[in-house]
Amino acid sequence: MRVLISGAGLAGPCLAHGLRRHGIDVLLFERDAAIDARAQGYRIHIGGGGDAALREWLPTGVYEQAAATSCRTGRGVTVAGPDLGTFTELPLPPAVAGLTVDRLTLRRIMLRDLAGCTRFGTEFAGYAPLDDGRVRVRFADGTTEDGDLLVAADGVGSGIRRQLLPDFPVTVDDHRLIYGRTPLTGEARDLTPDAALEGFLGVTGVDGRGLVLAAQRFRRDPAEFGFPAGRDYVMWAAGAPSATFGPDLFRLGAGELIDLAAKTFAGWHPSLEALIRLGDPAYVVPSSVYTSERPGAWSPGPVTLAGDAAHPMPPAGVSAGVALHDAGLLAGRLASGAPLLDAVGEYEKEMLDHGFAAAAAATRRHRGQH
Ligand SMILES: Cc1cc2nc3c(=O)[nH]c(=O)nc-3n(C[C@H](O)[C@H](O)[C@H](O)COP(=O)(O)OP(=O)(O)OC[C@H]3O[C@@H](n4cnc5c(N)ncnc54)[C@H](O)[C@@H]3O)c2cc1C
Repeated sequence: MRVLISGAGLAGPCLAHGLRRHGIDVLLFERDAAIDARAQGYRIHIGGGGDAALREWLPTGVYEQAAATSCRTGRGVTVAGPDLGTFTELPLPPAVAGLTVDRLTLRRIMLRDLAGCTRFGTEFAGYAPLDDGRVRVRFADGTTEDGDLLVAADGVGSGIRRQLLPDFPVTVDDHRLIYGRTPLTGEARDLTPDAALEGFLGVTGVDGRGLVLAAQRFRRDPAEFGFPAGRDYVMWAAGAPSATFGPDLFRLGAGELIDLAAKTFAGWHPSLEALIRLGDPAYVVPSSVYTSERPGAWSPGPVTLAGDAAHPMPPAGVSAGVALHDAGLLAGRLASGAPLLDAVGEYEKEMLDHGFAAAAAATRRHRGQH
């Protein structure tokens, strides 16, 4: 069997490891020219069964490196008001328990052993089913590859999903985010509340504005394992209704985004604005918030979906875990020896049940309905 996987984000590499362990031939292709072609080095919490999938499907040594370089955390989720007057620690729902990592470091760790079957700078452009039941993928450079199965692990804007399910119901809500990170220098450390240094802090205010802060402090330096050195940082996400950030959000440069994010919290505790102003321009990005509804059933074929491509959801600390859970589920089904379309059909049913339960919970949490 040959499986073509589009997207070397989180689900793609985890799936590739799981399949290779069972002797299945894999081609993992990625649009970005290189692993660090875009600033993607943010802190990410992997809950929702994702940690279990990594533990099960990555080679033991690879998982150990991921755990060794994960984030030192002492607390869970804390909330505070704009003046940082009182801090309330929230009980963590079990689905959120897991591993907190730097996403780029985790990808470097997963992808090192996959170098022989990964192609960067290779963008999916379209696919066509073949008469023998297989599938042909066409890349943006005009070249093609054939496989028994094509997996869309290409994230929220999945081109494969658009071709497979053109009416898939994805919506962009009115909330926008500016993500950034500030290196944890002495000055930044002094400005960062303990709840954010040791866990995840949500600062909620008026008019739909909110700020989350969470430090990535590496347990062990990735350099010890031959990767680029890890520098501790505090990740922040400034959220507000689209009107607050204005119509040009996606056209602003890095410095302007930092300035806009900082100004959004003027009048709040001064350390918040100051911390944002120390942000690293290389890592600031604006983002929309996506929600989706479960699509109607479709017949299993040689193309399937995993992760954010299958169930876009608002940020609630679970989508990465769910993406990795999908990867583990699909690896298990494909390795079971069942006929391919039976395996894909069973996977899709379970993946959609699990993914859309998580998406519904994330949407409720995002809307403050809990
Ligand atoms: C700043 C930030 C912080 C976040 N924090 C958290 C968190 O704490 N917890 C959490 O659960 N989630 C978090 N998320 C969301 C999380 O990153 C995603 O849910 C997760 O990465 C989804 O994994 P995936 O493998 O499905 O897709 P992705 O990781 O998005 O990977 C998709 C890959 O496909 C590639 N691709 C896209 N189109 C093509 C194409 N046409 N051809 C080839 N390749 C293509 C992309 O370049 C990308 O590498 C965060 C997101 C951001 C932006």
